[in-house]
Amino acid sequence: MDKNNRYHRIVIKLGTSVLTNGTRRLSRPQMVELVRQCAALYHRGCELIICTSGAVALGREGLGFPDLPATVATKQMLAAVGQSRLMQMWSRFFEIYDIRVGQILLTRADIERRHSFLNAQDTLNALIEHGIVPVINENDAVAVEEIKVGDNDNLSALVTLLARADLLLLLTDQPGLFTADPNEHPDAELIAEVDVIDAALHALAGGSRSGLGVGGMTTKLQAAQVARRAGADVIIAAGKEPDVIARIVAGERLGTRFPALDTSLENRKRWILAGGIHAGRVIVDAGAAQALCHQGSSLLPAGIVGIEGAFERGDTVAIVDTAGLDIARGIIRYASADLQRIQGCHSDAISHRLGYTHGAAAVHRDDLILL
Ligand code: GLU
Repeated sequence: MDKNNRYHRIVIKLGTSVLTNGTRRLSRPQMVELVRQCAALYHRGCELIICTSGAVALGREGLGFPDLPATVATKQMLAAVGQSRLMQMWSRFFEIYDIRVGQILLTRADIERRHSFLNAQDTLNALIEHGIVPVINENDAVAVEEIKVGDNDNLSALVTLLARADLLLLLTDQPGLFTADPNEHPDAELIAEVDVIDAALHALAGGSRSGLGVGGMTTKLQAAQVARRAGADVIIAAGKEPDVIARIVAGERLGTRFPALDTSLENRKRWILAGGIHAGRVIVDAGAAQALCHQGSSLLPAGIVGIEGAFERGDTVAIVDTAGLDIARGIIRYASADLQRIQGCHSDAISHRLGYTHGAAAVHRDDLILL
């Protein structure tokens, strides 16, 4: 890790307006330029996650800008046509710098359901561990209103939470948030730092909207609120600013910054587990209790001596010792029926017993709060 970088794991959200450079087409030179900046950081040890828009715009472009009815189905059709092309482009541009990319398409439902949250998180981590840059978009082609995030600002905030990133960089066609709409008020000033996102700020943001994409400043504020609560700094800046990504990561004050509200891991975990009524209990032996409480270990199946209640992968469970003392809460990585079959056994035996494995831990220490 390069000590000149202020951030290590970074979600970069690229809005349609940045990718098209204000035109109807995706600007290849602009995309290559953004990839060049990403590649420089990547090769210095930063972990990058790209949240890309542009599927619908590219679908339109690919079909030669047809005159289409403004129905949900045609928009989904455009996304279906555009998404594969979009991915091809990112893949080709990153390959110039010898970097592989992997696509993840998400909907709100994938992030809200605990077991698919864990699956998405595992996939994301696996990509990053293997040096592959995740390129994420909403699964627009299938997402109906109820399961949609709807805009990539909010999607990128959820990805920040999912990835436990320390920076969310929202690149757009504006240099940041202004004290008034700069198109109408030439004396409007850039707000360098925002501490509180309140109604007045939302009112200020309400007016501004950028052309082709879905989000305006309002969705950026919503996204900022989610991401900073998850422990990440959030910065809104102009995608066109020369070397914007590297300069921000190096700590230069560009755009509008929303500092993280609390970066302590404990607090993040609390937030992840917030409101989680436990779905069952896992009883652990003295060795496991000791390791959890004093060594910061994950809970392994080997230390489990009993299971109570029926739960799914991703549910919150109570972890208790053999005397019934409540030790911790955690997100369980195996459903109760499967955990029954691996309790007490060595982690190496998991895949033999179950025919699959979600990893060595029954509860990972990052998903665990000691009581
Ligand atoms: N997911 C949409 C797309 O790729 C964009 C949503 C947004 O711009 O916020 O076209």
